[in-house]
Amino acid sequence: MSLIVMKFGGTSVGDTDRIKNAAAKVAAEIKNGHKVAVVVSAMSGVTDQLITHCRAISPRFDAREHDAVVSTGEQVTAGLMAMALQQRGLNARSWQGWQLRLLTDSDHAKARIMDIEGDALRARLDDGETGVIAGFQGVTEDGRITTLGRGGSDTSAVALAVALKADRCDIYTDVPGVFTSDPRIVTAAQKMNRVSYEEMLELASLGAKVLQVRSVEMAMRYRMPVQVLSTFANEVGSELPGTLVIEGTKDMEKNTVTGIAHTSNEAKITLARLADKPGVAARVFSPLARAGISVDMIVQTASEDGQVTDITFTVAMGDWERALKVLEDEKANIGFEKILSEKNVTKISLVGIGMRSHAGVAALMFETLAAKGINIQVIETSEINTSVLIASEYTELALRALHSAYGLDAA
Ligand code: ADP
Ligand code: ASP
Ligand code: MG
Repeated sequence: MSLIVMKFGGTSVGDTDRIKNAAAKVAAEIKNGHKVAVVVSAMSGVTDQLITHCRAISPRFDAREHDAVVSTGEQVTAGLMAMALQQRGLNARSWQGWQLRLLTDSDHAKARIMDIEGDALRARLDDGETGVIAGFQGVTEDGRITTLGRGGSDTSAVALAVALKADRCDIYTDVPGVFTSDPRIVTAAQKMNRVSYEEMLELASLGAKVLQVRSVEMAMRYRMPVQVLSTFANEVGSELPGTLVIEGTKDMEKNTVTGIAHTSNEAKITLARLADKPGVAARVFSPLARAGISVDMIVQTASEDGQVTDITFTVAMGDWERALKVLEDEKANIGFEKILSEKNVTKISLVGIGMRSHAGVAALMFETLAAKGINIQVIETSEINTSVLIASEYTELALRALHSAYGLDAA
């Protein structure tokens, strides 16, 4: 008898009928002889609504109270799911993060899981009770409620699977698996049957929100097999119908590019005519780091005269205004002539472990974008990805053209 963690995302539990549908999937796995721990997200739209309420009360809210509010969406779904399971004659109960004791640090709104005291839950599971755990939430050592960052229920699920030594963690969502690109934009995208932890980590970090980045990090660290699959497809009982996120194998390296991700809500900032001398990059990026602003792509242009240079970088749209303010405040210390910035830029990234051993993968990307008249603003490469920054208006065109150029389109 195996133990499976089944996680249902917001759309999968978007209304009471959908909760009943998800409960039927759980019942089917139990009927198949498995023990199940269920992890649920808030019903779709609820977390956004709760965040809006917090902002309406105060733009500078207390992060601890923010988490007290925002975590409630999952509490509701956990109770409703437990009821739906009971309605099917199953023995079930809900668990909040604090009841399990899913311990986190106190970095509210993006807390990290430190430990899960799963003994009580495990004992109940062994007694034949199905546990329904509220995702996204935890508790600090001193008893304050925390949340794990947007999309954090994925991480709750994988962490629980690790703590319970589950055989697998199934992530039920609104698409049938992990695709070669976002299937809502690239209609020719194909579902992958398997994807390596490394590639999934890269895809998730570069914008494929189907799994939260931290959930992939955790799965990779503990070698937990994760399956991404649809809540809405009628495939109960069929063998692993979704995408399995697992250890990479040699034959997975055959394809140079396995997926294309994108991040739309980025902004580009250029500091023009900075003094080209040691310490200048630190004077630009240290104040941004102190303000908690993460910087993504960075390029410094070669200085023509050895006197001045330009630095261009990207930040998340949500940090754009604050970043500009920090830089203006630091203008005298940094010493630049002017700031140029552009809001609507998108980062498009090719991902594949095969890129390590294949030269010239990027050239096709540049040629394909050039043929469509799309200007590349910034280029960045790593061992297993190549990313470019382009104007957001070309996002769909670029994704589709690249998808087809790299032979990823469904036949
Ligand atoms: P949930 O609410 O179930 O957690 P999310 O909205 O967080 O679901 O994630 C699922 C969404 O991720 C899909 O609807 C899809 O639009 C998006 N997505 C982006 N890139 C990919 C990809 N490569 N494969 C599958 N889905 C993707
Ligand atoms: N409800 C949370 C969110 O919307 C967590 C999750 O769905 O994973 O971000
Ligand atoms: Mg999600």
